[in-house]
Amino acid sequence: MDLHKALKSLFENRMPSDEDLLRIIDMDDPQLELELAAKADQIRQANYGKKVYLRGLIEVSNVCQNDCYYCGIRASNSNVSRYSLKPEQIMECCEVGYNLGLRTFVLQGGENFLYSDEILVKLIMEIKAKYQDAAITLSLGQRSRESYAKLKRAGADRYLLREECASKELYSKLHPSSMSFDDRLICIRDLKELGFQTGMGFMVCPPYQTTKDLVEDIKLMLEIKPEMIGIGPFVPHHETPFGKEKAGSVDKTVRLISILRLLFPKALIPATTSLVTLSKAGRYKGLKAGANVIMPNLSPVQLRSKYELYDGKVSTGIEAAEIIDNIIREVEEAGYVVSLERGDAL
Ligand code: SF4
Repeated sequence: MDLHKALKSLFENRMPSDEDLLRIIDMDDPQLELELAAKADQIRQANYGKKVYLRGLIEVSNVCQNDCYYCGIRASNSNVSRYSLKPEQIMECCEVGYNLGLRTFVLQGGENFLYSDEILVKLIMEIKAKYQDAAITLSLGQRSRESYAKLKRAGADRYLLREECASKELYSKLHPSSMSFDDRLICIRDLKELGFQTGMGFMVCPPYQTTKDLVEDIKLMLEIKPEMIGIGPFVPHHETPFGKEKAGSVDKTVRLISILRLLFPKALIPATTSLVTLSKAGRYKGLKAGANVIMPNLSPVQLRSKYELYDGKVSTGIEAAEIIDNIIREVEEAGYVVSLERGDAL
């Protein structure tokens, strides 16, 4: 009964209490889970129709100065063969993506300063000059406000910086003491204030996470109001301190996508690669639960396996064109249509 009441308040566009959110996140009722996903899908269709936006992902570098305990490319993993794409290689990836119809390029990489402000500004301006109708999303970690401002002025449109978890206590269990949740939050606020369409996100079921922590994650997002929300299940990587931990729950992630869709009707929410890594039906389930973005990989095929954030990360070794054909098919099978528009947040 309490669960029905909790869902009712969520469906009627009322902010559920913390207790209600806990009940919904933890529910174990297949019929109600279907109802939750259907309601989220209805809200997504009311805002974005059946469109699924594609973002061309370019994994620019696996060099990272940080040592997050869950990440396969953390600095102290000496078994990673490191690479950083040169600006001209990134331009080549953009060209491939543009010719396939993609109108967003996501430049994602570990946190490093091999890409100085000067290099990035020049690169962003070059991409924007060549592909005037394309959007640029950056996902390059924490930088100074001044650096973000330069990147914005150069023409970057969006920035993804997942907070990973809103609980300081949990943050300190997932990261070394050199990394601070407060610093990360300052960066996220800076990005919002500077006018980036800002992406936040968190892992579902990393070690030590409680459902209360997930409620805190949702509340932090309600405060900051990101335009993009990327969540995915924790997937262990064997060369990290969490290598033997259990992978996160696909079903819980899918429920959270629906909850987030209902609380953020206009957000751009991807069906993430980690969902697909844990379940063949992960993308389908994510889309059916309210997700409306997919990020096909445009990185050079021979480098993709080096960007292994977690074990088994889906890296098919096929060319971008083939990946996109497969995605179009999957999206249509799920009852949606791929949109090649820029797909800015409403
Ligand atoms: S999660 Fe990001 S910041 Fe942390 S080690 Fe991996 S690439 Fe670096």
